[in-house]
Amino acid sequence: MFSKILIANRGEIACRVIKTARKMGISTVAVYSDADANALHVTMADEAIYLGPSASKESYLVAEKVINAALKTGAQAIHPGYGFLSENAEFCRMCADNNIVFIGPPVGAIEAMGSKSAAKTIMEKANVPLVPGYHGDDQSPIIIKQAADDMGYPVLLKAAAGGGGKGMRQVWSENEFDEALAGAKRESLSSFGDDHMLVEKYLTKPRHVEIQVFCDNFGNAVYLFERDCSVQRRHQKVIEEAPAPGMSEALRAQMGESAIKSAQAIGYQGAGTVEFLLDEDGSFYFMEMNTRLQVEHPVTEMISGQDLVEWQLRVASNEPLPCAQDELKINGHAFEARIYAEDPNNDFLPATGKLTYLLPPQESEHVRVDTGVRQGDEVSVFYDPMIAKLIVWDENREKALQRLSKSLMEYRVKGVTTNIDFLYNLASAQPFKNAELDTGFIEKHQDLLFPDTTVDLKEKLPICALYLVLKQAQDAANAAKHSNDPNSPWHTTNAWRANEGNVHRFEVVCNEQTHCVEVSQIQRSNETHYQVKALGITRQCQGHIINDQLFAVVDGHRMTATIADNQQQYSLFSQDGVTHFSKVDYAQAQQDEDSNENALTAPMNGTIIDLLVDAEQAVEKDQPLLIMEAMKMEHTIRAPQAGIVNEFYYQAGDLVDGGSVLLDFKGDA
Ligand code: ADP
Repeated sequence: MFSKILIANRGEIACRVIKTARKMGISTVAVYSDADANALHVTMADEAIYLGPSASKESYLVAEKVINAALKTGAQAIHPGYGFLSENAEFCRMCADNNIVFIGPPVGAIEAMGSKSAAKTIMEKANVPLVPGYHGDDQSPIIIKQAADDMGYPVLLKAAAGGGGKGMRQVWSENEFDEALAGAKRESLSSFGDDHMLVEKYLTKPRHVEIQVFCDNFGNAVYLFERDCSVQRRHQKVIEEAPAPGMSEALRAQMGESAIKSAQAIGYQGAGTVEFLLDEDGSFYFMEMNTRLQVEHPVTEMISGQDLVEWQLRVASNEPLPCAQDELKINGHAFEARIYAEDPNNDFLPATGKLTYLLPPQESEHVRVDTGVRQGDEVSVFYDPMIAKLIVWDENREKALQRLSKSLMEYRVKGVTTNIDFLYNLASAQPFKNAELDTGFIEKHQDLLFPDTTVDLKEKLPICALYLVLKQAQDAANAAKHSNDPNSPWHTTNAWRANEGNVHRFEVVCNEQTHCVEVSQIQRSNETHYQVKALGITRQCQGHIINDQLFAVVDGHRMTATIADNQQQYSLFSQDGVTHFSKVDYAQAQQDEDSNENALTAPMNGTIIDLLVDAEQAVEKDQPLLIMEAMKMEHTIRAPQAGIVNEFYYQAGDLVDGGSVLLDFKGDA
């Protein structure tokens, strides 16, 4: 076994590989760019080598720099993770030339699967079922169109060099064909420098089912069952699960053996994934083979009890596979949800920013969080905006799905927009619970996944208002319990105001809309009742809070909801999705405004460019005092009022953290 390996990657996968290496007593070398100088993967590794600027083409993608880092530190092998150089045949060759083991398949296997057309030709020869189509060398448009006409529409055009859904076009009829072909070729040429196309029958309701395979250097091969990755947005996976719902033992064995046949056809070694489309009638077709560890490998680990990175390290160091096929068993069910910094309501546009607050759910034998970031880290424009992979396991699909919903409820992120609500909506959608899966799931269920949040505010707003009142009472009762004078009138929570009766009137921000609510408190014998008036409707309510559960009765309707407290921004989770709410706190708003007025703090991490006035010099209101640069933009810090700067705490050229106080300012009285 190796004594030291280098991980040519970043983020969660670098951390994931380091964990297993550490468990096996192997030293690790991380690599990093400017943006990642203090990243989690760097702090976890035993050593780390700087590669270059933040842009990956100047750091993580520069093969020579990575090889040199391995040579310099004496790493005997390189784990490429996924993405970056993981499927780069040239990099794999360079490793061999420098006597470094590439923890992955042989060069020939990467090359064979590099082109979708060439891969299909190989698989055809190996009798692996293919989606009907044309993947020949003759690229004349007439030939390609003839193939499409012969198999009948709809068809799917794909770039042979494609990936990430680029150079792909659905064609629904003969007369759309020429334009679609020209468009797909253009896109492929600009993305991959190659416009070789293939055409396939377009399956209208397939599932994406992939098989995890493993081969060693002694001719042994096994499959570690399947993963269902049908839930996709823009042909990218969102939630994956294992095993695939409804999979029969016979079909599993058939697909598994086909996958092994595919791997053996290209002399495979190590971890690989054979992707299939599974049609409604149970037919399955080879789509492509990914010659690396997949993002979604943890669901396979959870149901098989195996550590796939350990397997990779063993195979790469020339050990036989740890298990034979008949020793592998499926245990329970696992889901993986990819937590992204992105805005599902804006076409899943990636988001960036500082993770000002980050609290993942507690890890246990049921819940695993694979991540590469900590609170305070930046999701930057340079890399994939994935925050974490949330993986859950339980003994069956229903229980595992409940765990998924619960863990999503517990995931707290502030500072960047995330897809957590969207994932929660997905996990709670009835068709998903029923496992009605196909690759069009998200498009088909837009109404459930992107609910019109304004419609049901009439139902949700009173519950939110009731919660806020109960929470305030609970907080006050807790404060009283811990004070010296529990009976002090200052701890009363019944909103008593002179001449106003027992009424709370406040504003609630609910799904980004602000509404005024009025809650009257009525004491009947020993019970407190509330009359909640919101959106012109008055409701009779009662309720209490235990931990994060709200037990409420609204007009005779008893209900339970989970409330997440994300620093006084609350989320109400119910069967039909998430509602976000908070109480408008005028005192806090005023305080923010006041402190902003005198806040001479750095707005974000950056560098001081220039000090524009001398200490103890009189300045006017709004006079520029200091310039700093952050995120390639200059920010001017101005005098909040007339006064003097007693002292600057930094000089030009100094680095400052966001929030640091920059200078001591004294305003004229
Ligand atoms: P890429 O390499 O660009 O990601 P793939 O060939 O892996 O492209 O396909 C991505 C997704 O596109 C699949 O998971 C599936 O949802 C869809 N897809 C691919 N081929 C077909 C087909 N013939 N019919 C229907 N859907 C397809």
